Amino acid sequence: MPLSPFNIPPAHHLIGGAWVAATDTLEVTDPSTAAPLTRIGRGTPEDIDAAVGAAHGARDGAWGAMTALERGRILTRIGAAVLAQVDALAELESRDVGKPLSQARADAAALARYLEFYGGAADKITGETLPYLDGYTVYTLREPHGVTGHIVPWNYPMQIIGRSVGAALAMGNACVLKPAEDACLTALAFAQIATDAGLPPGALNVVTGLGAEAGAALAAHLGIQHVSFTGSVRTGQAIQAAAAQNVVPVTLELGGKSPQLVFNDANLDRALPFLVNAGIQNAGQTCSASSRILIQRGVYESVRDRMAEAYRALRVGPALEDLALGPLISKRQKKIVEGFIAKGADLTLVAQGEIATDAAGHYVAPRLFADVPPDHPLAQDEIFGPVQVLIPFEDEAEALRIANGTDYGLVASVWTDSGARQMRLAKALKSGQVFINNYGAGGGVELPFGGVGKSGHGREKGFEALYGFSALKTVAAYHG
Ligand code: NAD
Repeated sequence: MPLSPFNIPPAHHLIGGAWVAATDTLEVTDPSTAAPLTRIGRGTPEDIDAAVGAAHGARDGAWGAMTALERGRILTRIGAAVLAQVDALAELESRDVGKPLSQARADAAALARYLEFYGGAADKITGETLPYLDGYTVYTLREPHGVTGHIVPWNYPMQIIGRSVGAALAMGNACVLKPAEDACLTALAFAQIATDAGLPPGALNVVTGLGAEAGAALAAHLGIQHVSFTGSVRTGQAIQAAAAQNVVPVTLELGGKSPQLVFNDANLDRALPFLVNAGIQNAGQTCSASSRILIQRGVYESVRDRMAEAYRALRVGPALEDLALGPLISKRQKKIVEGFIAKGADLTLVAQGEIATDAAGHYVAPRLFADVPPDHPLAQDEIFGPVQVLIPFEDEAEALRIANGTDYGLVASVWTDSGARQMRLAKALKSGQVFINNYGAGGGVELPFGGVGKSGHGREKGFEALYGFSALKTVAAYHG
């Protein structure tokens, strides 16, 4: 199948602005039907080497010579071109990763928004002048690292490419992107759109393939000056170890076990859709999924019953039918999630959704478990599927202890009308993000995002990402 309407030849990498036929290929299947869709290239260390070389060529050539204003204009043009193709990108994503069409459309629109944001930011990155000894003028410069490697997962390909590649390009880096083997098609389409919109050859290179092959070669490459990784903790550890050999900085966006804390004085009508959606969006395959709902005793039964009712109305089906949930990404992921559900056999299953299709995709009905002990595996381990656990608590101190009682620290949210409690918990929660009376704040590209603990380090999104994709140089001039 050609990647209509983007005219991308199957099983090619984009290196130095040209489509290069892969020496070996991998099959891509549609998660909604399990049927073959197309083939992608199985990138080799040699392909990665060629892509890194092309990126250095761009840095030493047209891309590196551009002013920040010119770079920003190109990124803004790419954003507009993405916006004009939102529907086509969304359909491609839905077929490739099984994401319900409206959720894929939101991802495509977010990709456009990242390019707009970073296009506008490109010429607003400044250093500082610093007061120092008499006779000196001291200032700082923010410079691109050079060539950045981007290794991304399959769950939000467009959003994650937008936030990491967008910021790196705005700063003037040239990029080598290794999308996840299960989710390459929109990455390739995006590279084509960017090329058509005027991005110079080599500024963005895409090599598809397996993590242990193309991904590992990229993380360890001596020609890379920064690695941005989003994915699992285990792979993050391997990437950090590989980059450490070359003393290269890494940004790691890893997993989570994000809690929402619901107090007796919460506005439950407002909270309810956030409590459920944050667990089942993208079939729970979201790093910031809220898989733990902590509920104060006074409203526990009411929240449990209302969430159960919402769960019973959830329908699961093919991505293009745009139901509440699509399939999981792969047979392997389905097996992992079913393994977790089996571990919940000793728990109270209060409700589940309905699989509303006979298609042979990787479908899992969403599950809601109640009265879950905080140390149960379902309350500790990242499931990465549509499973939420309800945990009762007595008071703020207990809620905080449970919320902070995992290895992760990505997102937390607090539902309460008490301003003092909001402020106390915003400080005390071990988390990269705290949301008050909402969850996710609409995912705004302006908001820095990242984790603490095993959820990772470094920040992407917002202006903060530009600092991560740059090196600070201090200049001290003595003039007497
Ligand atoms: P993964 O770690 O298996 O794969 C992510 C990427 O890394 C893929 O491109 C893969 O090919 C590559 N990779 C795998 N092994 C590699 C290696 N040894 N060297 C270099 N690259 C390698 O993760 P996944 O299964 O694709 O994604 C699911 C995980 O990602 C979940 O744990 C989830 O929480 C996390 N995630 C985090 C965020 C975030 O922003 N914090 C966002 C999305 C996903």
